[in-house]
Order: sequence, then C-alpha cells, then structure tokens
Amino acid sequence: MQKSYITSKTSLPKSFGDSFLELEKGKGVFLWDKGGKKYLDFGSGIAVNSLGYSNKGILSAIRRQSKKIIHTSNLYTSEPTTRLAKELTSLGEFDAVHLGNSGTEANEAAIKFARLYSLSKKGKGHTKLLSFEGAFHGRTLGALTLTPTPKYKDPFGPLLPDCYTIAPNDIELLKNTLDDSFAGIIIEPLQGEGGLNSFDPAFIQVLNELCKSLDIILIADEVQTGLGRTGSMFASELVGLKPDIITLAKPLGGGLPLSATLIPQKINDLLKPGHHGSTFGGGPLTSAVALEVMKVVNDKTFLKGVTDKGDYLVQQLDLLKQDYSCLGQTKGMGLLRGIELDETKAGFTIAELIGEARNQGLLILRCGSNVIRLAPPLVITVKEIDQALALLRTSLNNLTNGGLT
Ligand code: PLP
Repeated sequence: MQKSYITSKTSLPKSFGDSFLELEKGKGVFLWDKGGKKYLDFGSGIAVNSLGYSNKGILSAIRRQSKKIIHTSNLYTSEPTTRLAKELTSLGEFDAVHLGNSGTEANEAAIKFARLYSLSKKGKGHTKLLSFEGAFHGRTLGALTLTPTPKYKDPFGPLLPDCYTIAPNDIELLKNTLDDSFAGIIIEPLQGEGGLNSFDPAFIQVLNELCKSLDIILIADEVQTGLGRTGSMFASELVGLKPDIITLAKPLGGGLPLSATLIPQKINDLLKPGHHGSTFGGGPLTSAVALEVMKVVNDKTFLKGVTDKGDYLVQQLDLLKQDYSCLGQTKGMGLLRGIELDETKAGFTIAELIGEARNQGLLILRCGSNVIRLAPPLVITVKEIDQALALLRTSLNNLTNGGLT
C-alpha cells in the first residue's frame, strides 16, 4: 500500500499539530497527496467543498471574474456582490446580508447586531447572550465566549461579559434563565463540532416562542449545516427553528473564504455607516464563486439527492454497526453524519481509526468526544458511498486484527 505523504516540522503554529498530510490536487470527490497517493474525501475540508474539487463551474467563475476585478473593498461594490446579496436574502425573510470571510466573523457580526437591536429597543443593560453546551461558534473572542468547551476558551480569558451557557433540551431551565435582559441566543440547529447533537422539537418550539415574547434575537449558526449540507438550504427549516439571523460560511465560497450574516429589516433599519465592515468580505471574486455554488445547491432536485444519499449513508452505517459492537448510535442529517465509537470497547482511539482510514485512502473527521464524522462533498455518488464504507470496514478490521469486535 502506498504510504501517505506526511510533512512534519513546518513553520505553521503548534495549534495545528506537528505533522500534516500534504495534499497536492483534487478532482471530484478524490484528493491526491504530494507522493501521488489517492484519497476518497469524506471530510470536504471540514464541510466546505460541497461541489468537490476542480468543479468546472467554480473554475470558470474564478477565471471569468479574476480577469475583471478581484477586490473592491466595502467602499464600493460589484455586480457579483449585489447579485449574491439578493440571492441570499431571498432565501428567507431577510432585508440584507453582511458578507465576511469566515464562520467566526459571521457570528461576531450576528452578536453585534443582536446587541445593537436590544440596546436600542430595550435600553441599557439588555446585553446578555446565551449559547448551549456542546456548541461551537468560532475562535474570535466573541464567538469563543459563546463556545463553552473549556479547552478552546479557558487559556484566553477574560472573554466577553454577559454571556451564559445552558444545557440543551431543558425547557424548564430555558424558561427560568431567560428574561428580556437577553439580547440574543445563538444555536446550531445540529451541533457540528460538538458531536452532531440535535435539539428536541418541543425545546425548539419553546425557544422560538420565548424569543418572540421577550424580543430576543434568535441567531441560527448554520456555518456548518447551511446551504444544502443537511438536504435543505437551512437545517433550521428541518428542526422548526425560526431565527431572526442566520449565519453561513463553510461551503458558501466554494473553498474561498466567504461568510454571510443574514439580517431582518428591524436590524438593518438600525445600522449606520461605521457600525460594521470588512475589507475583504464579499469581494467580487468570492461572490462570483458563491453564485456558482448557489446555482447548483439551491435546487430542489439537488437537495433531494442530498437527503436520499444521506439516508443511504446512514443505512450503511447501521449495517456496519451490526458487525462492530464498538460502534454506537448513528447521528446527523443529510450528508452531515456520524457514528459513535466506544474507544474502550474498541481498544483503539478515534484518532487511530482516522489514521488507519487515511492509510486505506479514506479521509474522515471526528467531532465531539466520541463521534466519527462523515461530511463528503454533496456531489458524492452512491457508488462512492459504498467505496467509503468498504474502506472504513477494512480500517476497522485492521485495527481489530481482522476480528470483528
Ligand atoms: N460555527 C460553526 C457551527 C462551525 O462549525 C464553525 C467551524 O467549524 C464555525 C462557526 C467557525 O467557522 P470558521 O472556522 O470559518 O471561523
């Protein structure tokens, strides 16, 4: 078997680890490393590359737009940017969209907008923000404050004041916590990094109602779940969440950095020049590529395909589970799926499984403490799903010395 091309000792910071698989090129749902080894990609650059690699539409949008103009700044605009803004806002009852560069930035904008609204409507002191245990909202200081996992935030305090976290799905706790001093609540309709945890429909319903009655801005962080990943443009639609603001990023720019914070009229009406901005956000090149992504993804047949392929993937995971007692519950929606691994029962770690899968030519992810995460490009075929499951089975066999656990 060809060995993976691993680079160690780079000048990249230690926060990224100390050895890397060095990738050279990609086509469709496959990647090749520097040594020429081929991989089936079930990670999509952490749920980014929804159209796979070397997508013709994306490449031609880059060629076309880069010959015209690449960057304008927010002092000016361009046709791709205004067209994209129109398309994104028409996805719901939104009046405008702030375009930024990353998921964390999209959430920073959302936090600022929620506070602006609350302070101007409800007055001084109405600045509290709420998030849920298991959430991941990003690494800049505001989004980080709302990301409760201690290992991400503890070394960097003091963080943003007036931020609270409660357990998901506890309706009484939610009712006892909230009052009108809260400016905003941020929630992932399906927690991505936290372990593909979902929320109970009854909890979501109470959350919607309380936000409405207390005039709290409800923010759906759809950075990972949005734009087709779950088989719907927004996972919020699938779980009954009624957000005022939706944040998007990962797949939006087709691999280029681009994020969106979709806002309603009641917030847009309060915004004044200087309140928020971004030098790079929503430039002509990234916007032109995003229009290409939207053209493919914002299509009923395409989204139905994602749902069907996601259902097929989870059926296959359930079959695999029958042969390995170390595998537990399957989780997720659409093509953001996972399966729990009991490391003690298995006798190997998720990191070791990810390593062995890579040896076999399959790239997979982890999330939470014990979940193997599968997030292939949305253009994956059923045949390629079968191929991935066969590689995963071989990897499990190898780690259990050929025996089924
Ligand atoms: N929100 C969610 C739900 C995410 O999954 C992520 C990244 O994984 C972020 C925010 C942060 O996005 P970025 O890394 O682009 O800043």
